[in-house]
Amino acid sequence: MRMKRMKRITSAGSSTMGATGGKMSGKTFSIQEQRNQLPIAKGKEALINELRENDVTVLVGETGSGKTTQVPQYILEAGLTGTGMIAVTQPRKVAATSLATRVATEKNVSVGDLVGYSVRFDEASSSSTKIKYVTDGMLIRELLMDSTLSRYSVIIVDEAHERTLRTDLLLSNLKRIQKERNVASGDSGGKKGKEPASKLNPLKVIIMSATLDAEKFSKFYGNAKILYVQGRQHPVTIYHTATSQPDYVDSALRTFFQIHTDQPPGDILIFLPGQEDIENLEKSIKLYANQLPKDAPGVAVYPMYAALPASQQTSVFSPAPQGMRKCILATNIAETSITIPGIKFVIDTGKCKEKRYISRDAGSGFDTLLTRDITQSSALQRAGRAGREGHGFCFRLYTEDAFKSMPLSAEPEIRRCTLTSSILQLKCLGQDLEELDFMDKPDPDSIGSAFAILYLLGAIDDAKKLTKLGKQMAFFPLEPPLARSLMASVEHGCTKEVIDIVSILSASSKLFYDNSDNRESAAEIRRKFRHGSGDHMTVLNVLRSYEEMCASQSKSGRREWCRSQMLNERCLIEALDIRAQLRNACERQEIDYNVTCGDAEQPVLKSLIRGLVHQSAFLQADGSYKQIMGPSIVKIHPGSSLSDKKVPAIIYDELIYTTNIYARGVSNNGERRKNIGPPSPDGLVPRKEKVLEANGKTILKIKVGQTLNLQYRGDFCPSRHI
Ligand code: ADP
Ligand code: MG
Repeated sequence: MRMKRMKRITSAGSSTMGATGGKMSGKTFSIQEQRNQLPIAKGKEALINELRENDVTVLVGETGSGKTTQVPQYILEAGLTGTGMIAVTQPRKVAATSLATRVATEKNVSVGDLVGYSVRFDEASSSSTKIKYVTDGMLIRELLMDSTLSRYSVIIVDEAHERTLRTDLLLSNLKRIQKERNVASGDSGGKKGKEPASKLNPLKVIIMSATLDAEKFSKFYGNAKILYVQGRQHPVTIYHTATSQPDYVDSALRTFFQIHTDQPPGDILIFLPGQEDIENLEKSIKLYANQLPKDAPGVAVYPMYAALPASQQTSVFSPAPQGMRKCILATNIAETSITIPGIKFVIDTGKCKEKRYISRDAGSGFDTLLTRDITQSSALQRAGRAGREGHGFCFRLYTEDAFKSMPLSAEPEIRRCTLTSSILQLKCLGQDLEELDFMDKPDPDSIGSAFAILYLLGAIDDAKKLTKLGKQMAFFPLEPPLARSLMASVEHGCTKEVIDIVSILSASSKLFYDNSDNRESAAEIRRKFRHGSGDHMTVLNVLRSYEEMCASQSKSGRREWCRSQMLNERCLIEALDIRAQLRNACERQEIDYNVTCGDAEQPVLKSLIRGLVHQSAFLQADGSYKQIMGPSIVKIHPGSSLSDKKVPAIIYDELIYTTNIYARGVSNNGERRKNIGPPSPDGLVPRKEKVLEANGKTILKIKVGQTLNLQYRGDFCPSRHI
C-alpha cells in the first residue's frame, strides 16, 4: 500500500529508536510501566486465550482500563493476526487520530508506520501498518472496494455502546463477512489445527463497550462470549443543583471558580454540548483567571471536541504546567472514548448535541443537531471520569429530579438519523437496507425519505436500482447531495469552484464566528466578501481571499488576517485539506478538477441546486419560505448574506431548529419564471403519476415526464425523465 503520510511523534520522550531497537529510553520505559499497571494487564493471558478460541468476543470494561490502547497490541504480540491487519473502529475522528498517536508512542514508532489511522479526509498508514485506528465510516467505505475486508484478520468494533448508524451497519456486515470468510476458510470457532479450505482468511470480531449492555451484542452474534475487565473505580461524590440552571455555561463558569478557589489541587473536566459553548467558556475562564489574586494557582485551559485538529490534541494528556490547575472543556468525547489523566473534579452541564431526524412527510424531513439533555447512562459515565485515580467529585448542573427523569440510555442512531448516505453505500455493495439483519430495525419513514432523496438526486431509478451516477456519487467521501453537486459541476464547467465550496461545507467547523451579539459588526467587516447571490458564492470569495493571503503572508499574518475578518481559520485550513482529497478522488474518476467558470455564478448555482434540490424553498406572500418538499415554513437565518433580501426561491445547506426553523447557508435559487404559478402543495406539476414505494408505503409521487417546479425546469435530472 502507498505511504499516505508519516507523522513523527513530537511529544517529549519519543526516542529515535525503532520499535525493536536497543535500549529503551527512560520515558519509553515509564510508558511500559504505565501499560503494565492498567487494569487490563492483569488479565492479559486469559484474554489472549479467549480471543484465540473465539471468533466473536464482547469485551466490557470501565473507561480507562486499557481496552482500546492495549487489546490491539496484545493481539499483535500474540501473533493472532497472521498476515492481516487489525482495525480498531472509533465513532469519532479525533479519538481515532489521538489513540493512534498514543499507541505509536507506546510502541515507540512514528504514526503511519506500525500503527496508523484512517479517518475521512486524513490518513496515516503504510505497507508496514498492522494496527489501524479507523472511524467506523471509513471501514464502511472500504467495504465498497473490498466487500469482505480481506486485508484485516481482526476487526475491533470499539465504543459499540454508542450505537452510531455506522457501527450498526458495520456490525451487520461483519456478521455476513464472517459467514463468508470463516466458512470458506474451514474455520470453526477459531479452533486450532484446521487448514484453511480457501484463500479467504478467517476474521475475528471483537466488540468493545464501556457500559454493561453486552447481552444484546452477544445475542446478535449467536451468544458470543462476554468478557469483563475488572475496573478500577474510586468513589465519586455527586452534587446536584437545588434549582435548574438554564444558563449552563454561566453556571459552569461559576462552579469552576468555586472549585478552583476552595478545593485542593486536582484537574477539572467540564462537559459541554459543543464547540461553540466550549469556545465561549474558554474565553470567559481565561478572562477571569487573569484577575485572580497573585498567590492563587493559575489555570491552564484545554478544549477537546470532534473538530479539534490533531496537532492540538496531545497537549491535553500532559500534566498541567507547574503550579497550575488544568481545566479541560470537552464534549461527550471525554465520556468514554478518551481518558484524560489527573481528573478529580467533573462539572456536568447535563447537555449534549445529538443528530436527530426531524420527520415531516416522507421525503421532507431533515437531520439537525439539537442540544438536548443527556441520558442517565451518560451522566454516570461523566461522573465516573472523576474517580479514575482517587476519590473524585462530580458537580451536576441539574437537579436530582432532572437526573431521575432522564432516559436510561440513548436511542440508537439508526432509529433517528438520515439513512441517505448509508442506503447509497449499501446499494453499491448490492445490499438492501430493508433486508439486512440489524440489532434494531430502522424506521420505515426514514427509509422512505432516504429513497425519495436518492431518487431526486438521480442516484437510484424508479425501480430503486443504483444508477451509474449513483455509483459515481458514492465514490466521493461526501454526503450524497454534495456529491451530486460535484458531479453536476462537470456538466456546467465549474468543478474548480464547486469543489472549493463543497470543501468548506464539509469542514467540521463553521467558517463564520457569529452569534447574535456580534452579528451586525461581523456582517459589516465581511461585507467585501458578500456576493449578491448568497452564502455559497460568499464562502467562495472568502476562500479565494484566504488563498491570496496564503501566497503572500506568513502563518501568523494569516492568523491575524482571519481574526480581523472574524473568520475561523481552522475551517479554512481543513477545507484546503479536504479539497486536496477531493481533487485526488476526481483524478481517480478522470474528472478535471481545474475546469473553471471564472467569475460567473450561474453555473455554480445550477450545480449546487442539483444536489440541494430537496433543500429548496419558495417565497410566500408573508415573506417566509415554504419547503418544496414538505410543508415546513422556514426563515432565512439572520447570519445569512440573503437575510435582508427577498428572493423568489432559495436553496439551503441546513435547517436549524430553534423557536423557528431557520435555513442556513442560503443562496438564491434563481429567478422564478413569471409564467409559473405558485407550486402545487407537493411542489410537483400534475401529469400521469409515477409512484415510488418503500416498505409498501408511498414515498414519492412524480408525474411522468415532469420535473419539480423549480426555476431551472428541465435542468433537474434531464437525463432521467420517467
Ligand atoms: P479504555 O479503552 O479501556 O477506555 P484506553 O486504552 O483508551 O482505555 O486508555 C488506557 C490508558 O491510556 C488511560 O489511562 C489513558 O489515560 C491512557 N491514554 C490513552 N490515550 C492517551 C494519550 N493520547 N496520551 C496519554 N495517555 C493516554
Ligand atoms: Mg476505549
